[in-house]
Amino acid sequence: MNFECLVLEQVLVSLAAGVKMNIAIGCDHGGLSIKNAAKSYIESAGHTTLDLGTNTPDSIDYPQFAIQAAQMVIAKEAEMAVLICTTGIGMSITANRFCGIRAALCTTAENAVMTRTHNDANVLVLQGKMAEAELPLILKAFLETPFSGGERHKRRIAQMERAERVAETSCLAAVDPEVNAAVLGQIAQEDSTINLIASENTVTRAVREASGCVLTNKYAEGYPGRRWYSGCVPVDTAESLAIERARELFGAEHANVQPHCGSSANMAVYFAVLNPGDKMLCMSLDQGGHLTHGSPVNFSGKLYEIIPYCVSKETERLDYDELMAIAMQERPKLIVAGASAYSRSLDFVQFRAIADACGAMLMVDMAHIAGLVAGGVHANPVPYAEFVTTTTHKTLRGPRGGMVLCRAEYAQAIDKMVFPGLQGGPLENIIAAKAVCFKEAMQPEFKAYARQIVVNCATLAGTLAERGLTIVSGGTDNHLALVNVAASGLTGKAAAAALDNAGIICNKNTVPFDQKSPFVTSGIRVGTAAVTTRGMGEAEMKIIGGWIADILGDIDNLELQNTVRREVTALTAQFQVP
Ligand SMILES: *Cc1c(COP(=O)(O)O)cnc(C)c1O
Repeated sequence: MNFECLVLEQVLVSLAAGVKMNIAIGCDHGGLSIKNAAKSYIESAGHTTLDLGTNTPDSIDYPQFAIQAAQMVIAKEAEMAVLICTTGIGMSITANRFCGIRAALCTTAENAVMTRTHNDANVLVLQGKMAEAELPLILKAFLETPFSGGERHKRRIAQMERAERVAETSCLAAVDPEVNAAVLGQIAQEDSTINLIASENTVTRAVREASGCVLTNKYAEGYPGRRWYSGCVPVDTAESLAIERARELFGAEHANVQPHCGSSANMAVYFAVLNPGDKMLCMSLDQGGHLTHGSPVNFSGKLYEIIPYCVSKETERLDYDELMAIAMQERPKLIVAGASAYSRSLDFVQFRAIADACGAMLMVDMAHIAGLVAGGVHANPVPYAEFVTTTTHKTLRGPRGGMVLCRAEYAQAIDKMVFPGLQGGPLENIIAAKAVCFKEAMQPEFKAYARQIVVNCATLAGTLAERGLTIVSGGTDNHLALVNVAASGLTGKAAAAALDNAGIICNKNTVPFDQKSPFVTSGIRVGTAAVTTRGMGEAEMKIIGGWIADILGDIDNLELQNTVRREVTALTAQFQVP
């Protein structure tokens, strides 16, 4: 009895609100008469129906209607849907396969109210065999009862949606449990540890879906509209979107989105403009440069004459006067700016002036900072450089891959070098995921994310410095900081291992002018992109910085590492990984 009152009260409240909706409605042959009755009720209540059929009593398979209705709700073409089959069960099962759909089979008005208030259900499923007299109250209850918004209900819905994180490999789990165990291991690690690896991030589900989609099935050698294979219309759509969005996001005249990784993007530029033996001026690896910037173990170091540049010993920052002096003396053909472990902003005006003075071309490898550039918290290199290369998976938060941006005059040379020069068929699924990433990076939330990465990093580095740790160059302008742990009597290797025990994941890293081998190192590198994606802010950075300082201050204390590990588990439980 109480319950009936509740229904009426809620109905009256929402009636006053008078929200008009688009309602998709569909049924099989077993639901035809209830559908027609429901349709007239819904329309008489002032809503619009989108009738998906069926409209005849002939036997027809129900899943198609549930699929269409679910797609319309997900695409926001309809606010809600109503589905009917004889028992309502097949429709429910089908609709609930879609992420974001919460389809509820309701046989009473009480259930309709409950599923709206508790589950925020967006699809009402009815039984074709129900008594028509009960229909108005159930419909009214479902369409007009608002979601309660209660914390415990929100939490449970979030858990329900979150099941998708393991559900998305459920076929894999059946076919290949060993590989799936590795996937589940990564999910558990992402959930329960603090990822401070500066080159990593966690992508959205939309990016994961695109990167795992059927576009992997397509051969598409060539470029949109100019392919060597038939059947390329869908992949052309995806790749054109990626190209246009990349150009818009970074203001570039040309974009090649096909490189499989950052290294192959760099290779494409080198091969397009250099001959073996030509001189390149690059930041040396032990100073923060990348392997592809002339390391002797990399093709770049083997093929070209590498002139390395370093940071200043005093400031541990780039010294542009010294860079100018080296450039004027060596006259390189290409100057490479960009790094994997440099915590300060790069001054592209200075790099351009140096390149112009010595007659070199300029390539900026913005792999690490591309997300900061897209988010407007680091200067954009595109106006200053002939070529800008990047990975798409670091701060930019896209799929694992690479990209070359260049001026129009080099477009053809770059395109020819990527294909057929270096690669065969492009990974169109990954290219589609790049397009999704670029769209995400254009949203206002991405700017807020980029700003927060920098604030978080400054807070983390500041906390470590307050606790007596030595930060290379005295601080950070971007998403990463280098900690010189040798100054505290430790090695990077031991520091990273101790933090790993406590569930804080970072990497050992050489510091400028490091005395130790690259396997041992004097430093660790910490970055804040992944923790920021997860929603952590300054308060969490202070806590994490405190833990790092505690552990490094008492490196052999395994008990402390275990205690912190438990605290890390508790903290991470409050911040969901996408
Ligand atoms: C990460 C990185 C790359 C290469 O990326 P991969 O995709 O691993 O090949 C290139 N340049 C810089 C500066 C990087 O940090």
